[in-house]
Amino acid sequence: MPATGDPLTMKPGAMAKAGLVLAVALLLLAGGLFAAGAARDDAALEQRYVRSLALAARAVEAQRAAAGMYEQLARVTARSAEAGAAGALGSELRGLADSLRELSERLNALRDDEASGAPAGGFAAASQAAARLNDIAAELQRAGVAADPAGLRRRLAAIGEGDLRQIDALLDSALAVQRAQIDEAAQQARQAGRLARISVFAAGALALALGVTLTLVAWRSLSANALLMEQLTQLAREDGLTGVANRRTLDERLPQEMARAGRHKYTLSVVMIDLDHFKRFNDRRGHAAGDELLRNAAQAWLRQLRPSDLLARYGGEEFTLVLPACGEEQAEHMVERLQPLVPERQTFSAGIATWNGMDSAQELLAAADRALLQAKRGGRNRIVISGREPQISLPLRLVS
Ligand code: GH3
Ligand code: MG
Ligand code: MG
Repeated sequence: MPATGDPLTMKPGAMAKAGLVLAVALLLLAGGLFAAGAARDDAALEQRYVRSLALAARAVEAQRAAAGMYEQLARVTARSAEAGAAGALGSELRGLADSLRELSERLNALRDDEASGAPAGGFAAASQAAARLNDIAAELQRAGVAADPAGLRRRLAAIGEGDLRQIDALLDSALAVQRAQIDEAAQQARQAGRLARISVFAAGALALALGVTLTLVAWRSLSANALLMEQLTQLAREDGLTGVANRRTLDERLPQEMARAGRHKYTLSVVMIDLDHFKRFNDRRGHAAGDELLRNAAQAWLRQLRPSDLLARYGGEEFTLVLPACGEEQAEHMVERLQPLVPERQTFSAGIATWNGMDSAQELLAAADRALLQAKRGGRNRIVISGREPQISLPLRLVS
């Protein structure tokens, strides 16, 4: 029986397909949402990271500039001690004033960046300290070639020890803030990467589990249905009591076997078997014992047959044998072998008809049935071959 098109088998197939489509759609949706979220987070993180790096780099440059100024201070201080070096001192003082202004500008730029949304880094404090540098620069230029070299030296020492040191310390703490920002951004990026891997793995595992579950459910359902269909088919073809083929199977198979015998040019015999006085057996032993005997006899006969032979329960206590490639004598021998297999010394009568190559299945069965009737009339417990009547046939089984 074809399985496709049957509502029992279509349902789980369609269910599995719908389930898989749903799983794939959910996976794509989850993946899309995750990718969009991750891209947004990544962009924000990257921006923070890059800004912190740039600010830190500029803060380091500012610190170097401040450190460079210590050397300038040392040079100017040395010049102020030299007698007759007024010209050189003047240009050194101008250079120092320029450097101080430049440092002040750097710190102001850092403060401006911080104010425009960069991560808070303490540059505002550094630039406040730097505001004084402009005043100092102006003061130094005004002082020009110092009339009071000792006073100038004290002033230069105060710039180095006070203002520049303060700026250096403020830049240090601003740099520490930026480093913490960079570390935090890097850690978040690492976590985001780990999260992305976990999410991708989890989504993959989920989709796999879903797919496997759906496939298993569908497969189990399909195989359960296939088994059910097989059982139903078997039941429809089998006789419930004896387990041999039923009348329906006989009606299907006999014409097929005849057609095949016709094509391949071999003979075919049909045997009708009917248990003798079975009503009596039932009356004596009970119906259940009669059932048991029918079952045991049929199963014992089945074991004697070739795979190409067919044993069917025709109805009641009557059975039909279809024996392809078997002439009437061979069929007779076969039936003789079957008689002793019936339990309880129960006898049967049999009618054999061998196909003439023209009769229909119904005609062939009717011929066997007529031969069976002859066997009954002849005294039962015997075989009659169709077309040979009247025959003198001996009892099949000696009944005590
Ligand atoms: P005959 O030798 O003329 O065939 O005599 P008989 O008693 O066998 O024939 P009859 O047709 O008069 O009765 C057939 C009996 O077979 C009747 C019934 O009790 C028995 N029989 C038919 N089917 C079953 C069955 O499924 N189980 C049992 N236990 N007995 C059955
Ligand atoms: Mg009978
Ligand atoms: Mg009968």
